[in-house]
Amino acid sequence: MIQKCKKIVKFVRKTYKTDGFIPLHEPRFRGNEKKYLNECIDSTFVSSVGKFVDMFEEKLCGVVGSKHCVATINGTSALHVALLTCGVKSGDGVITQALTFVATANAINYCGAKPIFVDVSKKTMGLSPKALKHFLEKNCEVKNSTCRVKKTNQPIRACVVMHTFGHPCKVDKIAKICKKWHIKLIEDGAESLGSFYKNKHTCRFGDVGIFSFNGNKIITGGNGGAIVTDDEDLAKKAKHLTTTAKVPHKWEYVHDEVGYNYRLSNLNASLLVAQLEELESFLTSKRELAKKYKEFFKTIDGVEFIDEPKNSKSNFWLNAILVKNRDKVLEELNKNNIMSRPVWKLLSKLEIYKDCQKDSLKNSKYFAKYVVNIPSSVV
Ligand SMILES: *Cc1c(COP(=O)(O)O)cnc(C)c1O
Repeated sequence: MIQKCKKIVKFVRKTYKTDGFIPLHEPRFRGNEKKYLNECIDSTFVSSVGKFVDMFEEKLCGVVGSKHCVATINGTSALHVALLTCGVKSGDGVITQALTFVATANAINYCGAKPIFVDVSKKTMGLSPKALKHFLEKNCEVKNSTCRVKKTNQPIRACVVMHTFGHPCKVDKIAKICKKWHIKLIEDGAESLGSFYKNKHTCRFGDVGIFSFNGNKIITGGNGGAIVTDDEDLAKKAKHLTTTAKVPHKWEYVHDEVGYNYRLSNLNASLLVAQLEELESFLTSKRELAKKYKEFFKTIDGVEFIDEPKNSKSNFWLNAILVKNRDKVLEELNKNNIMSRPVWKLLSKLEIYKDCQKDSLKNSKYFAKYVVNIPSSVV
């Protein structure tokens, strides 16, 4: 294994052309970032109102192909509000993956709802339509247009899928199942900006989708998130909730429900407008990097590179390999200043979510055991 790791270290160093520390994913600012940021500061509109916020929303709609976009302070707040706009309430159940970043389940929890963990597909690392169908048929029934867990009568209001590392899940099939069972579908596309499934951008299949622009994502504004949807009412509701539910008026402060201060700042948006201009070149670079990794790992026994799933065009946000000796590989790579990490601990294993309802999570456990993420920054 040590010999194999040496080869990996050598390959990554050659790719990034450095003897120094190689991070997992660092941002690249080589476009108009400083220019727009200066413009933003000069305008004095650095907070929650400004032209860059509007510009960003409009441009993101163009990239994704959605009708509406509401920019938020981060991906987690976007998820929270997406769930609220789908009617998720205290006591509800929300189906999601155990193989995801903790924010997915936390946002469900913020609504007072409980995550229900269903297995992922071995082909995509995203929610498995087969497992979803099986779970629903075994445990649930639809009564008066509401899906409920038979045993407890708990309503299942929504399902959150996640496009893991930018690889699209089989979201068209999942959308069909959700429709049949009267469940709203939310796509956590925090990692999937620039990823397409069957020639349609991710986050365009469900009722609503979200993106994150945190520092480690494919584009970043330092912070940032977005809610995208084709549903005008849902978009209006999302905008209202993210802007303290203030009723629009020139000078009066009237708030008609408990809202949130989740609006993206113009400062973050100025960076994001510049980053969005770079997206195509980032995607090209990432595709080339993934291709190089794929070819390289063909020559390394016992290591499997995770390629984009069928019918998909992935953004290859974070490259991943499957290795038997995971911990040894992690130790060797990190010792050699090549940052690498395992996938998240399954959420069903965290103290805070260990009592949630779940299925066998067979494939989730498999990925949790063998995945290693490797450096994936734009070269
Ligand atoms: C990054 C991420 C989030 C949260 O985004 P923030 O902008 O950090 O709040 C949510 N879900 C997934 C899957 C993520 O990777």
